[in-house]
Amino acid sequence: MEVLIVEDDPISLKLLSGTLSQLNYEVIEAKNGVEAWQILQQRTIRLVITDWVMPEMDGITLTRLIRETEMTGYIYIIILTGRQGIENIVDGLDAGADDYLIKPFNPKELSSRLHIGARILDLEQRLKGAYERMYELAMHDELTGLWNRRAFYTHAQSELERSERMVHALSILLLDIDHFKLVNDRFGHLVGDRALIMVADTIAKNLRSYDRAGRWGGEEFIILLPETSLNEAAEIAERLRIQVMNARLPVHVEDQDNFDDELRIEISLGVATLNLGSSVSLDQLFNAADEMLYLAKKQGRNRVCY
Ligand code: GH3
Ligand code: MG
Ligand code: MG
Ligand code: MG
Repeated sequence: MEVLIVEDDPISLKLLSGTLSQLNYEVIEAKNGVEAWQILQQRTIRLVITDWVMPEMDGITLTRLIRETEMTGYIYIIILTGRQGIENIVDGLDAGADDYLIKPFNPKELSSRLHIGARILDLEQRLKGAYERMYELAMHDELTGLWNRRAFYTHAQSELERSERMVHALSILLLDIDHFKLVNDRFGHLVGDRALIMVADTIAKNLRSYDRAGRWGGEEFIILLPETSLNEAAEIAERLRIQVMNARLPVHVEDQDNFDDELRIEISLGVATLNLGSSVSLDQLFNAADEMLYLAKKQGRNRVCY
């Protein structure tokens, strides 16, 4: 683990640095708060041991600066100083330090105190990891891995605002599996789920990095295509329709012993585009795509309407 030592006195620095190296820490040195602050901007260091009295910027100012700044991760700060007395200790801790040690330090005690720091940093990392996993779960559809409705909506809202501001095109595709109820009825829900995954994967394969796809509801998907005209969007929709149709899902048909068949999934798509220079609400855009989807169904399904 890396430790940043901030100390203006060369002898103290050497002593501390030697002790920490022996304890298997990777030592990074700074002569004052200003130097330490520069290092912290450039690299991710989680443990800091700082002296109090130093030229240019003292340890208390450095501590306050770290606490006042939004950093990517927590920095555990130990003040190591000759300044004794309860008043000083309280001031140091109030400035945001996690621990306070008085010189000369005892190597064993320092080691134990660093372990406390490492333990807290580890806890923070694990909490962060858990939070990130929860966040991912909350934003994504469990079955298909696509964005869920809420997450998609939020993203689409800001994308619409951006497109209006920049006077860029923005298209939306609404996709619904044809006669999906029959797929479930005939082959069961597990095959139905596999079909949903297949459709989601086909969509995902066709996306550019700035496109977004979400699961809008049961067997409905939604795709946001920034900087895409109506004609381009219709082409993408048509490509998806063909690819899904050709994907052919292997299925086992119960009533024909050991006979494996292939299932053909068909989809209908509605396309809508934000006209350049015009202003619509997200719901208006969704409704327009929904109307086109309805039309595609009415005209016989397995088609694109825009
Ligand atoms: P249409 O061509 O008009 O769209 O007909 P449809 O049968 O696809 O439409 P309908 O809305 O009547 O049925 C949708 C079906 O989707 C009903 C529901 O059981 C199924 N479904 C929704 N979510 C899931 C899911 O997560 N897994 C599975 N297997 N089926 C689902
Ligand atoms: Mg000093
Ligand atoms: Mg539907
Ligand atoms: Mg359907």
